[in-house]
Amino acid sequence: MGTTSWNMQDAASKGAFMVSVFFLATAVRGDWLLFIVCLGQDYLRDFLQTTDATLNSTLQSGDLLERYGFKDLHIYTTFAVLVSFCTFWGIGLTFDTYFYKNRKDKPEEWKCQPDRWLTKTNEWHEFFLGSCNMLVGSIISGFLSCYIINGGKNQLYLSISDYGWIYFLMSIPALFFYNEMVSYYPHRFFHNPWLYKNIHKVHHRYGSPTLYSTVAMHPAEFLMYQMFLALPIFTVPVHAAVYVVILLYGYYYGMMDHSGIKMDAVWPWQPSSLFHDDHHRYFHCNFGFNTILFDRFHGTLRRKNHKYGEKVFGGKGKADDSKEKESVYHQYL
Ligand SMILES: [Zn+2]
Ligand SMILES: [Zn+2]
Repeated sequence: MGTTSWNMQDAASKGAFMVSVFFLATAVRGDWLLFIVCLGQDYLRDFLQTTDATLNSTLQSGDLLERYGFKDLHIYTTFAVLVSFCTFWGIGLTFDTYFYKNRKDKPEEWKCQPDRWLTKTNEWHEFFLGSCNMLVGSIISGFLSCYIINGGKNQLYLSISDYGWIYFLMSIPALFFYNEMVSYYPHRFFHNPWLYKNIHKVHHRYGSPTLYSTVAMHPAEFLMYQMFLALPIFTVPVHAAVYVVILLYGYYYGMMDHSGIKMDAVWPWQPSSLFHDDHHRYFHCNFGFNTILFDRFHGTLRRKNHKYGEKVFGGKGKADDSKEKESVYHQYL
C-alpha cells in the first residue's frame, strides 16, 4: 500500500467500500434510472404498455403529459427520487458510522485531514443542501429518462455498428476529456473573487469535506454542471453505455475525493483522494475532478513551495520563498 492508503484490515473490505461508493454515486441524480432506460428501452416500453391502464388511471394529466412526450413521467420521477434518497442516506449513514464515528479516535489511520472536522452546523448544512440538490437532480433524471423512453430526440445510440468500433472506442476518451473540461473550466471560473464570494463559497464551507459535500453546493452551480454533463445526449452521437458509464464513474470518483478518507489512485489517470481534499483545504488550486491533467497544463496544481489561502486567488498561490523559483508540484498519482 502507498503512503496515502487507508489502513483497512484486508483488501476485501476495501473492495466492498469501493463498490458501496460506486452505488452511492449512482444514486445521486437518479442516474441508475437513466442507465436502465438507455440500455433497456425496448423491454421497458413493453413493460409499461402492459401496465399502462393501471398506471395511467391514477393520473388525470396522463393525456397531457403523453401529448408532450412525457408519458408516465410520474413513475420515472417518483422512482428516481425514492431510490436516490434511500441509497444516498442509507450508504452515507453507513460510511459515517464506519469511519467518522467508530474510528473517530484514530483519524490519522484513515482521514485526509486528521486534525480537522466539520462543525455540527456544517454537517447538517451539507446534508440538507446536498439532499435538496439531489432531489432536484433526480427529478431532472426522471424527466430525461422519460423523454428518452418516449422517443424524444436525442443522440444516444444503442448499436455499436451504427457508427463502428473505431468511433465507439474513440468516443470513450473523448467524452471523458469533455466531462473533465466542463468540470475544470467552469470550476476555475467560479474561483474568481466575485463568483467565489457570492456562489462557490457555499461549497467551500466544508474545509474538510465528507461524502455529502459532493453535491452540496449553490443550486445555480449544481444545475450548470448538470447541464454541461447532459449536453452530449442532445448534441453528439454517443453510445448509451459509454455516456452512462462515464457519467457514473464521475459521480463515483466525486464521492471518493470528497469522502475525506485517504484512498490511493486506482487507475493511471486518477489522482488520490487527497487531490480534491486539498482543494477544500487550500481553496484556489486543484480545480480538476477526475484527473490532474488540466491543472498540470495550466499550472494550477498545488505546489509545495507556495502559500495558499481563501484570499489568495488566481490558482497558483504565492511563492513562499522569493528565492525559490522552482515549482515543485505535490504528488497525487
Ligand atoms: Zn472550488
Ligand atoms: Zn468539492
